[in-house]
Amino acid sequence: MKLEDLKIIISGGAQGMGRHFALRLAEAGAQVAVGDVNEVGLAETVEAAKSFKGKVHARRLNVADEADVASFVSWAHGAMGGLNALVNNAGILRDGLLVKKDKETGAVKTLTKEQWDAVIGVNLTGATMLTRDVVAKMVETNQRPGVIVNISSIARHGNRGQSNYTAAKAALAANTVTWAKEFAPFGIRVGGVAPGMIETPMTQGMNQKARDALVAAIPVGRIGVPEDIWVAVKFVLECDYFDARVIDVDGGLSM
Ligand code: NAP
Repeated sequence: MKLEDLKIIISGGAQGMGRHFALRLAEAGAQVAVGDVNEVGLAETVEAAKSFKGKVHARRLNVADEADVASFVSWAHGAMGGLNALVNNAGILRDGLLVKKDKETGAVKTLTKEQWDAVIGVNLTGATMLTRDVVAKMVETNQRPGVIVNISSIARHGNRGQSNYTAAKAALAANTVTWAKEFAPFGIRVGGVAPGMIETPMTQGMNQKARDALVAAIPVGRIGVPEDIWVAVKFVLECDYFDARVIDVDGGLSM
């Protein structure tokens, strides 16, 4: 699909990669509806897009709240005068080893159910409910073609300290295939992008030692930037022959 023809929802558009995608899309002439729990950041995204050919519409959205997702999709459809695309980008981390033994005290600590539920709730259930409601709206309004982009992670291949995040991102990658098969009769493609380590507020809090060790393991020799991932998202949106696949964009990093 052409970027300028898109009427596209981006979850988590208040900062980081979601904001970058929204600005690139508006620059190209698309209508964009961003949703996020961070309303201050949403307003900044709208402001940053003011001079662009396209338009960014913004409203608070908690993807983990089913009713909120339904009303956001309805609002976005009205605000943009249609809906033909979605980027499932909102995500959180609540890292921790499933079972950990303290080296000094010998105390055993475990990942809490709250850590598990929070990440699954936003990164998997949230993305699934948003996809369901967006596709239902496209089908009800006979909108075709359509395209969905799932932002997974290379943690989908397994990563120490991220049982919850790995489970959510691997499921999202697997369901990229499931949904591509299910939505094909409606003319809707589904693709995924799995970033490696990207410079955003999500990774800025990382401790310097861990960060340096990770950067040293990246063959291209640097941490990624949102533009690196935008190039892949743009490809998925534009290439009408791309479907049911997830692209790792990680500078060659193996976790
Ligand atoms: P980010 O800077 O933390 O931005 C994510 C945005 O999503 C934030 O504004 C966040 O708000 C929002 N959000 C959190 N929970 C939400 C909810 N329930 N409903 C709606 N919005 C919510 O993250 P990023 O680095 O740009 O990551 C974007 C996506 O890429 C995520 O899915 C992430 O898992 C994935 N990813 C990132 C990396 C990386 O290295 N950065 C690597 C692989 C994959 P708050 O800040 O208020 O929580």
